[in-house]
Amino acid sequence: MAVITPQPGIMDIKLYESGAAHVAGVSNVVKLSSNENPLGPSEAAIEAFRRGSFTLHRYPSSDQAELRTAIADVWELDAERVICGAGSDEIITFLCQAFAGPGDEVIHTEHGFAMYKISALAAGATPVEVKETERVTDVSAILAACTDRTKLVFLANPNNPTGTMIGLAELERLADGLPPQALLVLDGAYAEYVEGYDAGASLVEGCENVVMTRTFSKIYGLGSLRVGWGYAPKPIIDVLNRVRGPFNLSQAAQDAAIAAVRDTDYLTHCRTENAKWRTWLANGLAEVGVPSDTSNANFVLARFADAAEAEACDAHLQAQGLLVRKVAGYKLPAALRITVGDESACRQIVHAVKTFK
Ligand code: PMP
Repeated sequence: MAVITPQPGIMDIKLYESGAAHVAGVSNVVKLSSNENPLGPSEAAIEAFRRGSFTLHRYPSSDQAELRTAIADVWELDAERVICGAGSDEIITFLCQAFAGPGDEVIHTEHGFAMYKISALAAGATPVEVKETERVTDVSAILAACTDRTKLVFLANPNNPTGTMIGLAELERLADGLPPQALLVLDGAYAEYVEGYDAGASLVEGCENVVMTRTFSKIYGLGSLRVGWGYAPKPIIDVLNRVRGPFNLSQAAQDAAIAAVRDTDYLTHCRTENAKWRTWLANGLAEVGVPSDTSNANFVLARFADAAEAEACDAHLQAQGLLVRKVAGYKLPAALRITVGDESACRQIVHAVKTFK
């Protein structure tokens, strides 16, 4: 008889709840549950994607040279140290596959992004959770959790779902204090929302043990195309390219991402709009009695008295077609994560929370 078992811990992972794109009985759903850009992608990216449809029978570029060069030109990086994947999810997966296995430990923070733990378990490694202080990354606690088996330390900055972030000096202290066999992975999925923040690129330049990940799913508005990238020292890139499938990114996705990254005016426009409506949303919620932490990203973490109140508010919002994210899975059951939508969505949310309260 066959005895087929997955890696330890896999069956404890909860299946992803997508936050349905429709709600029964409600025609106009406003989706604010996945931190998507309400303005969508740059027109140039849409046009490039359309052009890609003429060559669907061809395999895509396997070395992704044009995309890597476009990214490197815009962010002033070395194209030889860029790797692209099907979303930054895939870069996280590559890192775990290549660097962590049975007996190894992978550190993630208490309210950190769920994929770190999932990818660690899938690689057979042991995820280690480190507590945050007041929902802010605690570098000393991370360093204290390191052992001679720590292989990867994942940290999103700004963090999801808290929206909090720590400064460059703290990131440097973390990179400097890690044991020699450990890699620090700075996840910059929301980095472009912070004006002037290089997402840790300068740390990658100066350290042998730091990797940065980025995505086209958030400010670039290309979540459906699944394009993410990593920036790392050359020896790390050389390892990651060995576990990367040669055709992991469709040509249309590469072409759209090239156009998107070059459209820097549109990026600035999206960042400015997000900052404006994020402030408006946070203030509006505070005025109706729902505080939130200062967010550096494109969402706010709205805080309720307890889990029951957060649940009830979520149901109230859903009944009106307003989809937000419950964060019980991140052990924040008294909070709802609300993506900063466009003006109309922000106004609808504040109005609905007011009527709930
Ligand atoms: N990191 C963080 C912190 C995220 O919030 C997300 C998406 N929710 C990702 C990585 C993955 O994004 P993608 O795979 O779409 O690039």
